[in-house]
Amino acid sequence: MPINDPTTATPSEIDEELARLGVERAKAHNALDGLRTRIERLVGWNMTEEAVALRPRLEQARQSISECDEAARPLDAEFERRGGWTRAWLVLNTGGHVHRTMACRTCFPSTQFGWLTQLSGHDESEIVEQAGEAACTECYPSAPVEFRNQPSRIKTPEQLARDKEKVERAMAKAAKAITAPDGSPLHTKRYGQIDTEFTARRTYADALAHARHLTRASIAHHRDTIAAYREDAQLILTALAAKHGRTEDDLRDEMAPKVEGRWQREYK
Ligand SMILES: [Zn+2]
Repeated sequence: MPINDPTTATPSEIDEELARLGVERAKAHNALDGLRTRIERLVGWNMTEEAVALRPRLEQARQSISECDEAARPLDAEFERRGGWTRAWLVLNTGGHVHRTMACRTCFPSTQFGWLTQLSGHDESEIVEQAGEAACTECYPSAPVEFRNQPSRIKTPEQLARDKEKVERAMAKAAKAITAPDGSPLHTKRYGQIDTEFTARRTYADALAHARHLTRASIAHHRDTIAAYREDAQLILTALAAKHGRTEDDLRDEMAPKVEGRWQREYK
């Protein structure tokens, strides 16, 4: 996200934006290279008109590059103004190491790095601890042996974002779900297994309305069925109360209008 005032931004925020601008810039640069090659080829074939037609796209790519540079300048300046801060990069291959600089002499110009912007400005001891066995010995020569013997806990910002999404999805699912108070599936006698709170509430209303209907028809004839419907409603009520940490009375009052509505619509 663009940063309005670099002086109040955290190192991670600044580096995250610099990383984003870096990706944008690299894309535009690739596009520029590709267009240049095509234009040269077209000119070689005397297809001047086609070559000229590509010029606006060439200009556009150049424009993007200079916009990225422009946006990065105040952020780089802020890094300098603060006397720099710690940064860390992860080499993107299996067993890739964590480095304090992409200029590390154990790496190559072709090495692919992931910028660990979430660690920018963090104590080097913390970075080394998280990196464990993945800490580059050249970049972090003083990393304690006890850290070096531990597996790496480093994740790229992309992995962290995916993890966060997964947690959010699981939480959204849990918010909609219903189980028995002990966490096992909520089984009912007449309606089978109920998985969502939406279904639970609808079923509760239906069970009580139906029990009322059968009671009116003939208590003697439907005794067992009525009991089963009432039991199901009670199971659901207990489950909802456990899920929300509310009393059954409270929930019963809340759902009473739904039961009445169901009764009026379906059975009266
Ligand atoms: Zn290194």
